[in-house]
Amino acid sequence: MFDAIIVGAGLSGLYALHRLRGLGLRVKVFEAGDGVGGTWHWNRYPGARCDVESVDYSYSFSPELEQEWIWTERYPGQPEILAYLDHVADRFDLRRDIQLGTRVRAARFEGRWHVTTEAGEQASARYLVMATGCLSVPKPVEVDGLASFGGEWYHTGRWPHEGVDFTGRRVGVVGTGSSGIQSIPIIAEQAGHLTVFQRTPNFSLPAFNRPLAPETLRAVKAAYGERRRLARETHSGIPAEPAVQSAHEVDPDERRARYQAGWERGSLVGILGAYTDLLIDRAANDTAAEFVRSKIRELVEDPAKADLLSPRDHPFGTKRPCLDSGYFETFNRDDVTLVDVRADPIAQITPKGLRTAAGAEYELDTLVFATGFDAMTGALTAVDLRGADGRSLRRTWEAGPRAYLGLAVAGFPNLFTVTGPGSPSVLSNMVVSIEQHVDWIADCLAFLDGRTIEATAEAQQAWTAHVAEVGAATLYPTADSWYMGANVPGKPRVFMPYAGGVALYRQLCEEVAAKDYEGFTITR
Ligand code: FAD
Ligand code: NAP
Repeated sequence: MFDAIIVGAGLSGLYALHRLRGLGLRVKVFEAGDGVGGTWHWNRYPGARCDVESVDYSYSFSPELEQEWIWTERYPGQPEILAYLDHVADRFDLRRDIQLGTRVRAARFEGRWHVTTEAGEQASARYLVMATGCLSVPKPVEVDGLASFGGEWYHTGRWPHEGVDFTGRRVGVVGTGSSGIQSIPIIAEQAGHLTVFQRTPNFSLPAFNRPLAPETLRAVKAAYGERRRLARETHSGIPAEPAVQSAHEVDPDERRARYQAGWERGSLVGILGAYTDLLIDRAANDTAAEFVRSKIRELVEDPAKADLLSPRDHPFGTKRPCLDSGYFETFNRDDVTLVDVRADPIAQITPKGLRTAAGAEYELDTLVFATGFDAMTGALTAVDLRGADGRSLRRTWEAGPRAYLGLAVAGFPNLFTVTGPGSPSVLSNMVVSIEQHVDWIADCLAFLDGRTIEATAEAQQAWTAHVAEVGAATLYPTADSWYMGANVPGKPRVFMPYAGGVALYRQLCEEVAAKDYEGFTITR
């Protein structure tokens, strides 16, 4: 019997446990993995690295933690982030309430939440916090014949802890999203030969990663409060001065100089944050997209390859761009082959490798699927969640997710989702969004003092309409992205995150709380 059960022990679940425990609640965390860290526990593929600077992709809730922890790189790699999260778990004595290796299969609300694990264990709590992650359910391999494959295969999102030795092997990587783009240069260095199967090229910018100089870290730490405040007041949760001009207001030379400076900054917001209209006006966006394509042409020696690597099907930024280390240059190697599986799709995995629809055969020893995730809703609908009167979340969301503030769902009392659909989450520096959600949930539980809370259908309807309206005013819905559910066959095409930005969103959430949780029904 607990006050709260939290599902997941990534950045969200760890902080939620700390905050809820601080309220004096009895809390239990169930985590499917055999370690804490979530994303950074599972995604151990070579080159896995953050696309937000370490000093910003870190908790702000503890000034002591902030001061003690020493980041060694501008963009930390997976091992360093995992070490940080392991440290957090120890430093705040979190492990004693975390049950690892335990996947929650079902949860039903009957006055309390009754949770069942895959092993059949039962537990109950007044409140259920789903800290299950937006990118934690890898897509299954969608090509026939995998069972017949004679070599080894891996998904980047379920990488073996002991690592993979590619030395001398003929390796195939399917997928050129962030996971593919990060891993391809490193796999290319090790492999005998690498074949990259690309369906859609992606925009990618150089990270210009480097060791973090002690004096840089000292300067950040001396003004951390201000830096965090600035991050919270931005659109993306990444501290930067906001754009003030439209891309149309400046002449092409000035614009190019501005994009060049953004490129050299090595940051997600360097170019995208240059002008106010890059994500709302196609012509403005084209100026930035063409700048990135011109860089690809400079980096890739073979013009035909450069062309194939140049994204044209979606506006720049409408899929999360990648920050890479030597991605495009990798295609200048003569032991790397780029295959266009848009023109000639993968038809079959064979005992020896891959066959395309046109009959081309690729012999491979190792296959790496960097094919992404059932994002935002996948981990929530994977659990058989039953709200009031046995209502199923899976069924409720059949036509797309509907939630109030991305935090709660009508018909599911006392259920909270951390960075759920309808919140800025994946469009932002996730740590900023996670802390904001967990703080909101913790404050709400303190206010409730054991009472029951449920989003009203009207408030949920209004918020869902607002999320759709704000999304429709941007270029995001024009891309076949995982933000749109477009990467999963059969998933409804709905723009899932909230594009209003983290600053506005925080303000709206605070207003709801200040009005005694407007849009919710609270009962004894
Ligand atoms: P997660 O870290 O996904 O943790 C969720 C946990 O819940 C997982 O450990 C999972 O095992 C567990 N879980 C799920 N379902 C169940 C269940 N039914 N029962 C029990 N346990 C369950 N964001 C950024 O802002 N910047 C980045 O640079 C960045 N890089 C990323 C790189 C990769 C490779 C990926 C996949 C994502 C990246 N993200 C990044 C997004 C990243 O997911 C978030 O930044 C953050 O780590 C999410 O934390 P979380 O705790 O909400 O979810
Ligand atoms: P992703 O962005 O969804 O990319 C998946 C890739 O696989 C795409 O190129 C996709 O092509 C391809 N693909 C999927 N199914 C395919 C199929 N059946 N046949 C051929 N190709 C197929 O997934 P991801 O790269 O794992 O990244 C997901 C998100 O995680 C990122 O957007 C980012 O938010 C986060 N992430 C961040 C970092 C980082 O830089 N810190 C690193 C990794 C991940 P299509 O585009 O044609 O579908």
